[in-house]
Amino acid sequence: MIDFHCHLDLFSEPQSAAEAAHEAGLYVLSVTTTPKAFVKTALLAKGKKRIQTALGLHPEIAHLRKSELPLFDRLVVETRYVGEVGLDGSRDFAAHFEDQEMVFDHVLSSCAKAGGKIISIHSRNAATKVLDALERHPGFGIPIMHWFSGTPSQLRRAIDMGCWFSVGRPMLKSSKGRQLVSTIPRNRILTETDAPFTTKDEKSYQPAEVKTAVEELASLWEISPTETGNRLKDNLRTLLAA
Ligand code: MN
Repeated sequence: MIDFHCHLDLFSEPQSAAEAAHEAGLYVLSVTTTPKAFVKTALLAKGKKRIQTALGLHPEIAHLRKSELPLFDRLVVETRYVGEVGLDGSRDFAAHFEDQEMVFDHVLSSCAKAGGKIISIHSRNAATKVLDALERHPGFGIPIMHWFSGTPSQLRRAIDMGCWFSVGRPMLKSSKGRQLVSTIPRNRILTETDAPFTTKDEKSYQPAEVKTAVEELASLWEISPTETGNRLKDNLRTLLAA
């Protein structure tokens, strides 16, 4: 199973969360929220080849961490994966939207300069602005929209632009989310948890979260969970071979 957006470093016990994911045989994209967290978070994945670590600068803290952009530029050559990055247009973060856009533009241009990255992107209440930013930076890589919650027409535009999508249990449990997921091409979907934020017990990793997402997708696609799991694995293989 695949968890393509998980915050291993934000669990109360990161090491045991990483061990649990590894023991469950999960493919994990371990995202970070600041460049300073990258090196230490990457150590959690040491010796665990199914866990890959992404370099991030989360939009909710872009204004507090923009001074880490030079560090971002130094580290970006060390990984194929970037995230969590993006924009958040919610009222709580609107005051710093200019900083968010500056940071996201910088990140995308840095990714383009580095030859393109696989990027896990946050776009809550800002899908149009995110897609506009992606268009400004050709060569940035492959965008994976994490927990996409935009409108059907924003989703259409994202699909047409070549975006991939990581979908989790909360998205698949809501009727709006299911409606969106049913529109996404099946060969551009991966599963995610966004743990520990979505889990009850934040001490240990919860592979059951991904399992539920796979089962929900299976019911939406009207195929078996096993077949769904195989297709998701094919998708991951395709993504990594791109
Ligand atoms: Mn997240």
